[in-house]
Amino acid sequence: MHNSTSTTVIAYIGLGSNLQNPSEQIHSARAAIAALACINEQAFSSLYKSAPMGPQDQPDYVNAVMAVATDLSPIELLRALQTIENSHGRVRGERWGARTLDLDILLYGNQVIALPDLTVPHAGLTERAFVLYPLYEIAPQLDIPDKGKLVDLLDNCPLAGLTRLT
Ligand code: ATP
Ligand code: MG
Ligand code: MG
Repeated sequence: MHNSTSTTVIAYIGLGSNLQNPSEQIHSARAAIAALACINEQAFSSLYKSAPMGPQDQPDYVNAVMAVATDLSPIELLRALQTIENSHGRVRGERWGARTLDLDILLYGNQVIALPDLTVPHAGLTERAFVLYPLYEIAPQLDIPDKGKLVDLLDNCPLAGLTRLT
């Protein structure tokens, strides 16, 4: 399937897990994403460990960011990622509760998207260290649509205990 202009777009995906061997969940999600039709992996960050957002009575998270080149439309990409979340045993409970796998679309080219099911750039991107630091590792020159330079966002975002694992 192709998006309306049939052009290839670079998208950035945020991966997170804090249940059932999080690092393995991230590696296996990476492989599942790379195996999708109409997607080619471009870059993958180190793995990072972060403290949970929201409910604190849950394990630390493992996070990473992946860059892909894709012909999928934004909604097609979202649905494909949700299918992978489900196949990794994602169960939706309380907001920001523990999960085996979270796959968020951080950026889709330079597009700004405001659909009922999809906000791009991702709403939490600018204030989340576990997104900004791995993103910076693989795309230091990035400009975030409507938000400015990634490096400037990073300067205003405390590490909040984020540590690099690999
Ligand atoms: P957060 O979005 O704050 O990181 P979360 O990832 O835990 O929270 P989910 O339960 O994974 O939230 O997703 C809730 C809804 O967010 C999904 O049903 C999806 O439609 C919507 N959504 C909106 N924008 C995006 C995006 N950029 N990437 C992924 N899902 C999105
Ligand atoms: Mg999320
Ligand atoms: Mg999500």
